[in-house]
Amino acid sequence: MTARYVLPLPAQPSVAIAGAEPRFAVRRIFCVGRNYAEHAREMGNDTREPPFFFTKPADTLVADGATIPYPPATADLHHEAELVVAIGMGGADIPPEAALSHVWGYAPGNDLTRRDLQAQAKATRRPWDMAKAFDHSAVCGALVPAAQIGHPTHGAITCTVNGTPRQDADIADMIWPVDQIIAHLSALVTLAPGDLIYTGTPAGVGPLLRGETCTVTIAGLGSVSTTLA
Ligand code: MN
Repeated sequence: MTARYVLPLPAQPSVAIAGAEPRFAVRRIFCVGRNYAEHAREMGNDTREPPFFFTKPADTLVADGATIPYPPATADLHHEAELVVAIGMGGADIPPEAALSHVWGYAPGNDLTRRDLQAQAKATRRPWDMAKAFDHSAVCGALVPAAQIGHPTHGAITCTVNGTPRQDADIADMIWPVDQIIAHLSALVTLAPGDLIYTGTPAGVGPLLRGETCTVTIAGLGSVSTTLA
């Protein structure tokens, strides 16, 4: 017998696919912390530690072109330009050699961060959730299928705010490349189709103000723009 529910089912979070009508249904969102040496240094950290992860709820997703409210409880909202990996095939303990076969596609993304709350959490050794996992915090552009473009290992990743360059790096500079990220993450949780992985941001993170438009571009993947109301 089909289950019945006392409340209407929530909407299925999803992201667009470049040049195609169907959407990619999203299950979970994982994010890598400190995955570019220069950004790790700007945040005052050692660059050699193994990758670590945090999460955002799938319903925090924001699509290209959206205008979002300036989030509550912060005076220091930051942009973080990131390569987003979409998992098409799940698995646990995936070896790096097999990892890329689990990837469905890639997109440009922006891991919006309440930097002041993150600093507070770090200082008090509390969880990062309220610094990272707030409403409208997971900006994700249209996915480009790996079947079309393969698995990019290098290419410019940039972030502009009202057209002014803020972040300018290359995804080749990731400390842990995508295959290693998937190997590490799948040793901690069983990955599933629909999972997204934000792969960390390069140096140059900074504040976003009300009314500003932030655009993340990755070579071969296009752009994603977000405007703060
Ligand atoms: Mn990030």
